[in-house]
Order: sequence, then C-alpha cells, then structure tokens
Amino acid sequence: MSQTMRLWWFIFYKDQLLLEKNENGTFTIPYREVPPINIKEKTTIHDITILGNSICKSFSITSPVEESEQFVMVGLRASYEYLSVVHYQTAGKAYEILHWDRNNRFCSACGTPLEQKETIMKRCPKCGQEVYPAISTAILVLVRKEDSILLVHAHNFKGTFNSLVAGFLETGETLEECVAREVKEETGLDVNHITYFGNQPWPYPSGLMVGFIADYAGGEIKLQKEELNSGAFYRRDNLPELPHKLSLARKMIDWWIENPTSEAI
Ligand SMILES: [Zn+2]
Repeated sequence: MSQTMRLWWFIFYKDQLLLEKNENGTFTIPYREVPPINIKEKTTIHDITILGNSICKSFSITSPVEESEQFVMVGLRASYEYLSVVHYQTAGKAYEILHWDRNNRFCSACGTPLEQKETIMKRCPKCGQEVYPAISTAILVLVRKEDSILLVHAHNFKGTFNSLVAGFLETGETLEECVAREVKEETGLDVNHITYFGNQPWPYPSGLMVGFIADYAGGEIKLQKEELNSGAFYRRDNLPELPHKLSLARKMIDWWIENPTSEAI
C-alpha cells in the first residue's frame, strides 16, 4: 500500500481526542487507510486539511472509546503534551470544524437544513445563504510598568495561575481600541504604546488570540470584581504561577522574561 493511501484520523468524543499508543510509549494520531473504529450511520466525515501527502479526516463519536492497549482518549488541551505541534494544531482545526458543523445545521435566515459544500462552507438549498465557521477574536495584552508586568487571575481560569489581561473584540472596534478598553475595564489602568506581538488559533471552541504589548500610562489598579480575583504588577524575581506553555500568553511572558532590555518605554 502506498503512503498516499493512508489517512490521518482525528476522532473526537466531545473534546476528547483519540490517540493511538506506540510501542515506545509515545502517542500518535491514528494513521491508516480506513477509520480505526467503526463509524455509525449518518456520521459526517470531514476533510480537514492535507499533511504531507496524506488527507486529514475527522468525525465525532457519541460515546468515548475505552482505554486499551492500542488507544486512549485525551482532552484537546492535554493532547499538546503528546503530539507534534502540527498535529496539535490540526486537531484544533478539526475540533473547530466539528463544533461548527454541530451548531450550524439549519439556515439562520429561513430554517432550511444546510448542505455542506466545502470543508468550511455550507449553503442553504432554498435561499442560497452561505455559512462559514465564525471565529471569535480575543486580545491578550502584556502591560509593562518599569521592570514589572501586569498579571491577573480571572474567575474563569482553570487553575491557580496568573496570566495577561484578555477580552473579546467587540463589533466596530479596532484591536488596539479593544486592548485599551479591556485593560481599563478590568483593572482601571490606562495604557499606551500598543504594539502587535503575535497570534494563535484558540480552538476552545473557536477563537483567535491576538497578543499585544503595551505600556502603563496612568491610574491605580481597581479590579473588575465580576471578572478578576486578583491583579498586580510583578517583577522577574517575583513571578507567580504562570499559564501553560501551549498558550500565547505564556509565550509573551517568556519573551519578556528572556529580554531584560524589553522594559517599558
Ligand atoms: Zn435559507
């Protein structure tokens, strides 16, 4: 059998991803000609992307696969620990498409069942409306003040770590306006010198994180209690528990830690 006939199978039960166990103790996305488990009738198999010469397929299952000598299911976030970056990112894309498919079954204009036309496009056969996956854009901002940065703990964090101020982009707003508004709303501080850092797909369930660096420009910390438990400026020698390595927030904090010359302007 030629290599090109084998397919990568991204199979989800809710946010749990099916991994195959290798003999050496590592894990991989199942890679074979046919699905590694039985598929129920009426299951939609999605084409996600192509890696190398192999197509990546994805589908949802309605009950989890029991752990065995061959398989185990792990949460999408945790899969970062077991997979290559490209497989983790592809798993994220597959998860976003499955989420979109599940939540976009009918035309929002006329109520007719939608038909899938392309990997990321459905069309209404009655009125012609086209539907694509919606991406929720959120900002992250690393606020610098002299030799310290602003870190917060939000109620919705899954853990005790501290991270950067974050928030969703609102309609009609630029990303920089969003940065200034979120910092002001959540902490009462003013910022300036807002510059782009980087971005990261965030498939929990369908987001894009866009990171910015900004400088403290005035004000006293007044926390928005509905969102935050804590918030303060921390120096490099006094940092609290930080977010996981997979996140853009951590990448930004690490960049600041490793660049002592990156002080506020
Ligand atoms: Zn319609």
